Amino acid sequence: MRFRQMATYRGVPYEVGVGPAESDVVLFAACPPPEELGFEPATGHWRKRVIRAEVDVLWESRPIGTFHGEACLVLDDLGDRLHIVYLGKDARRARELGYWQVDRGVFELLTPRDEVTSLNEEKVEKSLPRARPEPAAPPQPSYPYGAQPWSAAPLAAPAPADARGRGYPAEPALARDVLRTLEMHFSTIETALNYSPPDSIGVILYTQDAFADITRAPGWVGALNDGRIRVPVQGLTSVSDQLSSELKHELVHSFVWQKTRGRCPGWLNEGLAQWMEGRRSDRDAAGLIAAYEQGQYIPLKNLEGSWTRLPAPAARFAYAWSLAAVESIIATSGTWGIERLFDRFDVDPSFEAAMRASIQTSYADLERQTVTYLRQTYP
Ligand SMILES: [Zn+2]
Repeated sequence: MRFRQMATYRGVPYEVGVGPAESDVVLFAACPPPEELGFEPATGHWRKRVIRAEVDVLWESRPIGTFHGEACLVLDDLGDRLHIVYLGKDARRARELGYWQVDRGVFELLTPRDEVTSLNEEKVEKSLPRARPEPAAPPQPSYPYGAQPWSAAPLAAPAPADARGRGYPAEPALARDVLRTLEMHFSTIETALNYSPPDSIGVILYTQDAFADITRAPGWVGALNDGRIRVPVQGLTSVSDQLSSELKHELVHSFVWQKTRGRCPGWLNEGLAQWMEGRRSDRDAAGLIAAYEQGQYIPLKNLEGSWTRLPAPAARFAYAWSLAAVESIIATSGTWGIERLFDRFDVDPSFEAAMRASIQTSYADLERQTVTYLRQTYP
């Protein structure tokens, strides 16, 4: 996770989410807080909604470390590797350290975890009455890499439109292989969603010591701000099954982004990307059913926006629950149901209205239907 928002409540620090209104703060706790504080149990964590005035201090916590003597910020925790960005001012020094310039003045690197030392959460206090404004188009959580799907935070700020063609040392065989894979997935997704994205899709591969920019290849030309796919491919010389799935997953996001102009609810986007990848709910079905029955689940409605503020267990649940919901929609209405749903985005004022018009369901119905589907399909 890139930045954690933290707050002190009655002398104890909690991770928090702010919103939907500026005055709303939700406190998250991984362990049950004292009962008198009135936290409610949720899936894998406890939460309490308070108002700003009840919170003492609000700050951002960001993991800062040292990479070969220079400060870096951890963008993403991929388990054995960290995705870091250079915090110094010296571009030459950044290159010497092996960083790659991904955008103008932005240097990033994937590095083995143990090469980053003095990892520390830096506390940046914020003035209380100000909420960070929601970006117009919330960043989409990225593919669930490895064991920590929740940590795939959005990458660095969108690039200015010249971020291509600077002669990065590419790995031509891998790049060609990736392109072939993407082209194959592209037509599969095109058919499934009955949609061709009009804008080109940028792809950037990260390797530990090289960074291949293959966006110059025919058909994929163009620097996109939002449809850009960034994939770490450490140690690979060809496309593995896992990389192929990751590429497909990210490619679905690019399709969805263009089709809905960034307005797709998070759960639908993540659920569809996982479904297209070939993931199914078999292993998660029992847990999801139990969570629903005990009322300890996150309503899909609450998973419409960005997930980057969700604590880890909640994010894990969110991925599984979203997949199950999309699976049940497709089981009932086919991918045509998804297609109709997307088409209603331009017509209906709210997402729930679009859902009613296209697949005749409300959130409550969809959740019920999903659980019924899970029970029947994975008994
Ligand atoms: Zn995703």
